[in-house]
Amino acid sequence: MAKQQQKKKQQTAIQPTRSDDFPEWYQQVIRAADMAENSETRGCMVIKPWGYGIWELIQQQLDVRFKETGHQNAYFPLLIPLSYLEKEAGHAEGFATECAVVTHHRLETEKQDDGSVKMVPTGKLTEPYVIRPTSETIIGSAFSRWIESYRDLPLLVNQWANVMRWEMRPRLFLRTAEFLWQEGHTAHETENEAIEETRTIHRLYEEFLRDHLAIPVIPGEKTEAERFPGADMTLTVEAMVQDKKAIQAGTSHYLGQNFSKAQDISFTGRDGATQHAYTTSWGVSTRLIGTLIMAHSDDDGLVLPPRVAPQQIIIIPVTPKEETREAIIDACQALAEVLRREKSYGGQPLRIHVDSRDIGGGVKKWEWVKKGAPIRIEIGPRDLESGKVCLQRRDQAPNAKEFIPKEDFIRHVEETLADIHNQLLQRATELRDNNITTCTDLGEFTNYWDQEQPGWLLTPWNGSREQEEELSKKHKITIRCLPLDLQDEDPSPCILTGEPTPQRAIWGRSY
Ligand code: AMP
Repeated sequence: MAKQQQKKKQQTAIQPTRSDDFPEWYQQVIRAADMAENSETRGCMVIKPWGYGIWELIQQQLDVRFKETGHQNAYFPLLIPLSYLEKEAGHAEGFATECAVVTHHRLETEKQDDGSVKMVPTGKLTEPYVIRPTSETIIGSAFSRWIESYRDLPLLVNQWANVMRWEMRPRLFLRTAEFLWQEGHTAHETENEAIEETRTIHRLYEEFLRDHLAIPVIPGEKTEAERFPGADMTLTVEAMVQDKKAIQAGTSHYLGQNFSKAQDISFTGRDGATQHAYTTSWGVSTRLIGTLIMAHSDDDGLVLPPRVAPQQIIIIPVTPKEETREAIIDACQALAEVLRREKSYGGQPLRIHVDSRDIGGGVKKWEWVKKGAPIRIEIGPRDLESGKVCLQRRDQAPNAKEFIPKEDFIRHVEETLADIHNQLLQRATELRDNNITTCTDLGEFTNYWDQEQPGWLLTPWNGSREQEEELSKKHKITIRCLPLDLQDEDPSPCILTGEPTPQRAIWGRSY
């Protein structure tokens, strides 16, 4: 039995497996797919071409959605004068412990006795700069110059950038000190318009995760304890990954007049009176890549939803005999060309790669399995004769294959990719729905967190911020959100205070 189990274990391409050690499995998936690596700069990562390719696709596809909803891209400085950050007290306090600060603008070289050179910072700045952890303050200062009248509103701006937060427990993609993101910043004439913008982006994120990354999220509102520093309301999309932990995959903040008052973002209103604008901010980051790895990948490596796969179809020529080699490679190239010319998926041309490298077929196949390419097609001498191709799908077992006429494959390729997306979405939805449990009893709530891999609990909740923080600390959990769609009109007794409340909270462990 033990031997059999061992044999079974060796058959997976990734060691350890998800059930052996989920966090280590995650690192190994990234390594095997050649997506990224830790850098020598503390907490920072090197994103390699396969990982960066995924980011570029996320970026392109989100950018289209932002522009469709009226936003324009702009770019603001990386360095923020310290005095800007000091203006909004809540914001300043929230980010204080995570800031990298630039204090000097020159280096002096000192020759050492052994001939080496030591460089010493000099030229102390009179006002230090903070490397942006987020750009509300520096974009707000531009907004205060740009906005004069109600006619200048709404102002809808997005920035694609890198930011820096001095994270103490970094993890590739999910939480790095430097990360790539987009940050939207908008200013509006009325409270209602700004709240509507916050909600529009929240829905846009929910749909993007579902339709592009095959990740079903729970959309909800953060409690005061978990809100963005300086916000009146933070909306979040929470994803459940395969070890049942939560990931905050994106956030959309309603900032009220907090920043506009601190930074004088004011305008002459329709009635001629001067008033402060209502602002919002929102962002998603390279954390989306970590989320999709943890949501879909398996013990053989990365599994990519087709829309964000840098290569969607890998065509592998199988050339056992020299005399048919050229004909087979030609057939593979011809198939790729037809697909590129005639087919598309999700409004983009198909991304196809013919892998004709002179290396063993098995090695080649497993490389693409580990990289998560959605479809692999093999064409060998017999297929050439019969006009068939061998189709293998990454959402199915690694040895599952289907021989189908080439013309059928071409005809149905978009449906096949859509089907792979839907399979991934369905699996992730089942995982999520099977692991959210309604709980109305404090004893059950307390015991629930003793399990090794708890899911999420949905409870009636109207406790105070202090009570929430106490429960969070005790069980190493947080309220992930007050889910928008799961609020119950019927009041039930709060799990802690016993007072009837219509409010529902989702609790869980998170990355
Ligand atoms: P925030 O401005 O804090 O609301 O952040 C916007 C989004 O960026 C969050 O919802 C996260 O998904 C993501 N994010 C926050 N911190 C990090 C980090 N250290 N590394 C990667 N992504 C992050």
